[in-house]
Order: sequence, then structure tokens, then C-alpha cells
Amino acid sequence: MSELEVEKQTYYGNCHCGAFKYSVKLAPINKASRCNCSICTKKGYLFAVPEKPSDFKVEAGEGVLKTYSFGNGIAEHKFCPTCGSGILVEAAKYNILVININTLKHGSFDIDNLEISTTDRVNVDPIYEPFTLSPSDTPEIPEGQKLYTGSCHCQAIKYTLTYPEIKEVRTCNCSFCSRNADMWIYPPIASVDMLDTEKNLTNYLFHPKRAYHGFCSVCGVDVVNRVDLHPTFKAPVRPINVRTIDGLKLDGLDIDKADGWSMESGPYKAYDI
Ligand SMILES: [Zn+2]
Ligand SMILES: [Zn+2]
Ligand SMILES: [Zn+2]
Repeated sequence: MSELEVEKQTYYGNCHCGAFKYSVKLAPINKASRCNCSICTKKGYLFAVPEKPSDFKVEAGEGVLKTYSFGNGIAEHKFCPTCGSGILVEAAKYNILVININTLKHGSFDIDNLEISTTDRVNVDPIYEPFTLSPSDTPEIPEGQKLYTGSCHCQAIKYTLTYPEIKEVRTCNCSFCSRNADMWIYPPIASVDMLDTEKNLTNYLFHPKRAYHGFCSVCGVDVVNRVDLHPTFKAPVRPINVRTIDGLKLDGLDIDKADGWSMESGPYKAYDI
């Protein structure tokens, strides 16, 4: 039987805050693809491609999603402006629509046993250029640490970070982190300088205890967890999603997998709608 003859299933997904809900018909999900270009890396997309765009259906929140595009503008990245979840990428000119299956309901597929292929688009135009750090913005580097820079894709959010060499990061399967495939480190607040770009963050508070995620209002990339802004839980750290760090090779990092879904079951599950 060819792939297209496999009976399709209907899957359901939503942005984290639930303002946008969708269904999509796909062959049973046992494989998916990533793209290593700048935007797909920062967004942490995991893609499945419906046979035709009409296999995707908006169930709630028509018109809610915000669009980010760059370069030739053909690919439109659609994300929720309230919570930042990146739902899909559409190239209407070519009748192409791909779904970020990280936004499907938790447990829709077995993410640990997926066959994942990577599309190599690092050198496809437009080549992404990290921002240039000015001497006046360059911090002193404490002994034993390195200077990192990072940004969202549109660079409305930029930061410097001084930190020991990054070898291990934490991923989390909670409803929020899994939608962005976030990869976290936990530097002290003083080690991160947001270079006066905080005003371009949308801060999304969803957990009664500690999560206060800051994503770029323009491109939707999840950059930082502003736990320091939380009304009651004020940890002296500024967690950074290392997907946004310039030049960091993600493939070689050791991954500490946190089971946020189980640890925080009640409140987190409430957001998988
Ligand atoms: Zn949302
Ligand atoms: Zn890409
Ligand atoms: Zn941005």
C-alpha cells in the first residue's frame, strides 16, 4: 500500500491558551520532519504535511493567528499572539501547508518513537545573520564563562548571556514547553542582559505557580521565562531557551528530559484543550 492510501486519522490541536483550535487529517503519525533553518530551529517546529491544505480545518479562533514572514515572504508562519504557539507554516502561492505537530493534543502520537528526518535548509536564502553586538553592550565575562548572544528570529528581542560552556539543557514535556520544543538553561538574572528589548516581549502567565513565558510579539519565538515577573514565585533566574542562542549546535547537547506533564499534571493538562 502506498503512503497516500493509508487511512487518514483526524487529529486535534490547539495553541496553548486555547484561543485557536484546529483539526487535521493525517496518516497515522509515526514519522515527522524538522528543518534546520533559522526560523524552524528557533520555533522548534516538528512538521507533518497534510496531503492537501483542505485536510486542515479551523475549529475555533478563525482569524486569531498572527503572521510572521521574512525574506521573500512566501512562507507565512502563523502563531497565537496571546500564548506564542506556532501552529503552522503556509505557502499559499504553492498550495503548501505544514502543521507543527507539537501543538497537537498531548499523547496524539508517540514522540519518543517517531522517525524524524531533517531538511537541511541552513544555506537557503535568505541566510540568517545574527545581530552585531556593539562594544558598549558587551559585558565583562566572568572567569570560566563564555559570552553568548541570542535573539528571536526578527531580532526585536536580543540578549547577551555570560555562562559556562553550554553542554546540557533541559527539555520538558509539559503543555507549554512541548509546543515550542523549548530547551532550557537557568542562568542567574544578572547574567542575562536583554539589551532594552523587553518591551517587545509578550509575557504569558499560565501557571499558578511559576511559568511566565516571554515570547517575541513580532515573530512569536519563545525566548525567556520571566519567572522574576511572577506575582508570587520570584526565582532569581532568567531561564533562556537555547534555541535562540546564536551559533549553538543543538545536536551535540546532552538533554535532561523533565517530565513536566506528570509533575504538574492538573494545571498543565488543563491547557491541552
Ligand atoms: Zn494561544
Ligand atoms: Zn525551515
Ligand atoms: Zn522576534
